[in-house]
Amino acid sequence: MKLDLTEVAGNIGKRHSYEIREECVEGEDLKCTEPIVGTVEFTNTGRLILARGGFSATVEMECGRCLERLIVPVEVKIEEQFPIANLTALLAGHEEEIPEEEKEPLFENNVFDLSEFIRQAILVEVPIQPLCNETCKGLCPTCGRNLNEGPCDCPVVVEASPFDKLRQLLEAKEEPAE
Ligand SMILES: [Zn+2]
Ligand SMILES: [Zn+2]
Repeated sequence: MKLDLTEVAGNIGKRHSYEIREECVEGEDLKCTEPIVGTVEFTNTGRLILARGGFSATVEMECGRCLERLIVPVEVKIEEQFPIANLTALLAGHEEEIPEEEKEPLFENNVFDLSEFIRQAILVEVPIQPLCNETCKGLCPTCGRNLNEGPCDCPVVVEASPFDKLRQLLEAKEEPAE
């Protein structure tokens, strides 16, 4: 959804509330399972449009260890501000330059790209490596079995650690030489 905020941008003090109800965002990097709902209010403060509100979403992900499908609920708070181009200057034919660092790529010509904003905000919010459970045992690296469902028959491989040698040395020292 793209919101045209021309009316808000043109009137100081003007407010506009919007009920967010977006169908699932779906892309290579994100899959929502339910509609995204929330509210956002835009306020013209004179030089800026403030956006305040929040929304909730449910994102489908997979466990970072066992690859089981997970549903991760996400709550996002909206607190943004966009600089308003000087309308008088615009009408007079002068393009007012908004400083580069204040520019908001999702707010151009008074149109706010809400869908893209939501997509990016969710991506920031979701855990990079979610776990189905803190104690998830993951998959066996040899046979691929999900070890949460029980152990497999693969031999346990104990990796040699550089500390093993040190420990042997220390243990040898503790035993009094005969
Ligand atoms: Zn897991
Ligand atoms: Zn195995």
